[in-house]
Amino acid sequence: MGLGHVLGKWFARVRPEAQTPASVPALAPAPHPAGPVAQPTDFDRRMMARAIELAEAAAAQGEVPVGAVVYRTADGAILAEAANRREADHDPSAHAEFLAIQHACRAVGDWRLNACSLAVTLEPCPMCAGLIVNARVGRVVYGAPDPKAGAVESLYQILADPRLNHRPEVVPGVEAKRCAELLRAFFHALRESKARPSEPRS
Ligand SMILES: [Zn+2]
Repeated sequence: MGLGHVLGKWFARVRPEAQTPASVPALAPAPHPAGPVAQPTDFDRRMMARAIELAEAAAAQGEVPVGAVVYRTADGAILAEAANRREADHDPSAHAEFLAIQHACRAVGDWRLNACSLAVTLEPCPMCAGLIVNARVGRVVYGAPDPKAGAVESLYQILADPRLNHRPEVVPGVEAKRCAELLRAFFHALRESKARPSEPRS
């Protein structure tokens, strides 16, 4: 049996698969369109204003300025509010909306928040988006997009993922400019303060 014969047999076995990429199942489709996207209500705007106040207070404490409020969608009654406390608590999960959701669940005595809305100044990260799904938060209103960690539109679309069992209504970009400016100013000041000790170089 010559080498050509062996190779021929081998190719006959291997090439069919190797040459038919069409038979490979297609990859999952590109990110599907976002879930239901809505316009902000008056309550949403008022709650975002409150979340911005909380974010400003956090910045004054040296925390990355993100604020969050959980409220009843029907009447705007505030159930919980929180700001980022990562530095104060030495806790990587102490994001504003994570804390606000936990507090709201305790306030209503239920782990489900279907009848509630969350207003948060920054697009939620994957961790917080996961909690939003698990807590069945009815609506999510957010301010600035987060190109580095956002999991609603920027990097992932967790809240619109049809494989998960809950998809909240999403209201993006409420007071986005102001929310982003808060963060920009905070990080600018942080860089300045870090740069200062090295200034006397002469
Ligand atoms: Zn987060």
